[in-house]
Amino acid sequence: LTDSFTARKRSSIMRCVKSARTRPEEHVRGLLRQCRIKYRSQFRRLPGTPDFALPDLRVALFVHGCFWHGHGCPRGRRVPKSNRTYWTAKVARNIQRDAKNVKGLRLIGWRSVVLWECRLSDDAGLRRRLFSLAPKPLR
Ligand SMILES: [Zn+2]
Repeated sequence: LTDSFTARKRSSIMRCVKSARTRPEEHVRGLLRQCRIKYRSQFRRLPGTPDFALPDLRVALFVHGCFWHGHGCPRGRRVPKSNRTYWTAKVARNIQRDAKNVKGLRLIGWRSVVLWECRLSDDAGLRRRLFSLAPKPLR
């Protein structure tokens, strides 16, 4: 793939992309703290290195960017005009890999939960979802 930017410009662009991508994770981290849910970040010992692993609940949380992981929302369908085939194939591979990770997690008794970037502004909804993950109390 050819790049029309200079190396310097490109690296500054990628830095921005990177920091923009970490922000949603920071948001979720804050909510987990508020909800007093124990978590581990970037847990490499689980398939797919979940953004957050909740060991007590055996839940793997993935904070997914809508475009990269092929969400069906408007943001997820906004494929760049140039190199369309490349991006479409890349997203398709990501979707496949995500499915494989969910399967791998299920095999070792972990649930997977995806938090989509487009829904992160709904704090009340997110909190409800996080609380609903807790195991039901035994009677
Ligand atoms: Zn979305």
